[in-house]
Amino acid sequence: MKLYPCKKCGGTVAVMKQKMSGFSYYRVNIDGSVEDNSDMYDDLMVKNCWKKYRCENCGSVLPVTGVIKEF
Ligand SMILES: [Zn+2]
Repeated sequence: MKLYPCKKCGGTVAVMKQKMSGFSYYRVNIDGSVEDNSDMYDDLMVKNCWKKYRCENCGSVLPVTGVIKEF
């Protein structure tokens, strides 16, 4: 998949709305600081809500070549 800049505003950040379900373990140290939770989303089920990526700035659908990754 390759995305191209937004035709309308030139934006280069693409957004996909995603629905997630599942559970995770959130780790906190006894002093209140947050432990490494980088694996937090590993077991979540993720589904794309939109058929296409949109420009984060203006919401326009972004030009794309190739197949959009399905979860
Ligand atoms: Zn845009």
